[in-house]
Amino acid sequence: MAAVIGSPVAHSLSPAIHRAAFEAAGVDWTYAALDVAPGMASDALAAMRTLGISGLSVTMPHKEAVADAVDRLDPAARSLHSVNTVSWDGDQLVGSSTDGAGFVASLADADVSVDDAKIAIIGAGGAARSVIDALARAGASDITVLNRTADKTEAAAALTPVASPGIISDVTRADIVVNATSVGMGDDGSLPCDPDLFRAGQVVADLIYHPLETRWMAAASRQGCQTVDGLGMLVHQAALQQKIWLGDDAVIDTAAMRAAAMRSLS
Ligand code: NAP
Repeated sequence: MAAVIGSPVAHSLSPAIHRAAFEAAGVDWTYAALDVAPGMASDALAAMRTLGISGLSVTMPHKEAVADAVDRLDPAARSLHSVNTVSWDGDQLVGSSTDGAGFVASLADADVSVDDAKIAIIGAGGAARSVIDALARAGASDITVLNRTADKTEAAAALTPVASPGIISDVTRADIVVNATSVGMGDDGSLPCDPDLFRAGQVVADLIYHPLETRWMAAASRQGCQTVDGLGMLVHQAALQQKIWLGDDAVIDTAAMRAAAMRSLS
């Protein structure tokens, strides 16, 4: 059995995505959504030991508390002090962070290489930090961080020597532009940056997956950019969780996982 812990968790797409993955792989696991109150993350890990739960997905607000409560962290989780996946290694609980690697995998799925790429990332919250860390691990040569709040910009840029705070015109010289803010989820018409900054041939990726094509992505398409939606990151971070729980040889059907997520979204 596996589960996601968070609060609130009722609208999480993780159960649909993971159940589809288990079914496609013919694996007899169940997957539950468990609402765990803020401050109770270490109790949830104790319950994982007691109940023999094989794997946990972790979402807000528990990612940092779980990083404190596991026995060991993978390199990304250690660098970010944030865990989205818990697995067993013998009798030890291991915390991993697959969000950023899931984003890099979603780019690879779209035939976009990050090796030696120049990236502009808008945002400096939890999602941006995981993406910055993973892009640097995957070989990006230059990451410019653009964010409303300066101290968060500095902290996110300090995650890797290839990142630095930038100015909005840096969007134009980037190979890949990423929106890691929540701007574009609502109906207020605001955009993460002015689409006039885009140039044809750039890759523009939005971490938002509802709507699947944001107004910002649509504007980028009109400017001749390749766009990548946020559902790919969600599916691939879950696919990496499946590999952690089931082993590297596990057959992971990301198409079935994406289809399940799309059904839940509609
Ligand atoms: P977070 O930690 O709360 O960070 C929010 C970020 O958005 C911060 O950089 C914040 O800037 C910025 N922001 C919020 N409102 C803004 C505004 N009106 N103008 C300018 N900047 C604004 O949230 P998060 O977890 O990083 O999530 C960020 C986005 O990524 C969300 O849309 C979330 O749905 C998406 N996401 C997607 C996936 C996926 O799998 N596709 C995974 C995780 C998150 P300040 O620092 O100035 O406050």
